Amino acid sequence: MDKIKMTTPLVEMDGDEMTRILWKMIKDELLLPFIDLKTEYYDLGLEYRDQTNDQVTIDSAMATKKYGVAVKCATITPNAARVKEYNLKEMWKSPNGTIRAILDGTVFRAPIVVKGIEPTVRTWKKPITIARHAYGDVYKATEMKIPAAGKAELVYTNENGEETRELIHQFEGPGIIQGQHNICASIESFAKACFNYALDTHQDLWFATKDTISKKYDHTFKDIFQEIFDAEYKEKFDAAGIEYFYTLIDDAVARVIRSEGGYIWACKNYDGDVMSDMVATAFGSLAMMTSVLVAPDGTYEYEAAHGTVQRHYYKYLKGEETSTNSVATIFAWTGALRKRGELDNIPELQLFADKLEKATIDTIENGTMTKDLALITTMKDVTVANSEEFIKAIRKTLEASL
Ligand code: NAP
Ligand code: MG
Repeated sequence: MDKIKMTTPLVEMDGDEMTRILWKMIKDELLLPFIDLKTEYYDLGLEYRDQTNDQVTIDSAMATKKYGVAVKCATITPNAARVKEYNLKEMWKSPNGTIRAILDGTVFRAPIVVKGIEPTVRTWKKPITIARHAYGDVYKATEMKIPAAGKAELVYTNENGEETRELIHQFEGPGIIQGQHNICASIESFAKACFNYALDTHQDLWFATKDTISKKYDHTFKDIFQEIFDAEYKEKFDAAGIEYFYTLIDDAVARVIRSEGGYIWACKNYDGDVMSDMVATAFGSLAMMTSVLVAPDGTYEYEAAHGTVQRHYYKYLKGEETSTNSVATIFAWTGALRKRGELDNIPELQLFADKLEKATIDTIENGTMTKDLALITTMKDVTVANSEEFIKAIRKTLEASL
């Protein structure tokens, strides 16, 4: 069989620890034998980020802007312990944060659904995709501890030096305050990314905030979504036979639990952080959650939702056997390859991505899986594969289907 040819390189962002080990296995076993893989490689492993003073992360994001599609391995976000462990020059920022800031995107997370791994919520039949606004609110907040009685105010000073003030609270004793912000341009691009992704994946879109309580802040999100929908998307949604609706966040939670799945749930930054972990866990496993950053200019960056699986890596370093689930990382590759195929009009590449995803799911449904899934499956007599055996089992299934 001839290898599939590519015309434009994928931006490849390598990463850290156990996922870096899986990354190489996936390429060697599941991609390189079948595709003339064209990538522009960026090493986002922590050592190289440190060597380049994190320039490599910025370069990889700029390359993503240039080529349009990237695939990213999980990376360490350094904390004090990592600074010591890797003898870092600085506590470098989260690569995902840096990349998001440059691409200005929205993160869509969806579980991979397989038979035998049943959602905790019985009614869920189809994946629920969480769209998380990746800018502002509590993640860019300024906080203050109030030591004793006094007045706290919000103050805005315009460019002419004129002030507008709102009382936050007249304190009679100690307390705490927090100032949050968001930017209309960022909310607009969030809304557009959600509407485009709904059209792209042919799913309904739900959006929910707490606008009844937050009559200015959350209400602005609601209004911006509605204005953009009415002006630019209503007709397209009608034509596609899909729906957009807004509801209160507490009503959305109730509806989500009663639903069958199969829609996109757009969330503000904090809601998306929390709800995506809840949805992933209730669907079975964080290791089965895909993640894609979609920028307003139509740039895509695919990754797994989980981290570098540090505990497994330390076992791997000691020469012990690991059984780390590579499914979400495989799906990051297939997502990126399919999108590249779509943009460059290479149907063989799209078909290959479909077949690799199917081979991965079939392997699990036929009873071979990693330990995390074996612990929760409803299937009897499953084969628990180690990290490498699982990828090799997928290769066998894949070869049979090609
Ligand atoms: P993690 O890597 O997601 O792993 C947490 C635990 O979840 C693991 O110890 C493991 O449980 C289980 N798990 C996650 N992925 C798995 C997989 N593929 N297969 C099997 N089990 C899996 O999170 P973490 O340990 O909190 O973070 C490790 C590093 O990842 C941190 O340095 C963090 O900064 C980074 N991180 C990166 C990203 C990203 O790049 N997108 C996201 C999150 C975290 P058991 O140990 O019980 O088996
Ligand atoms: Mg989280």
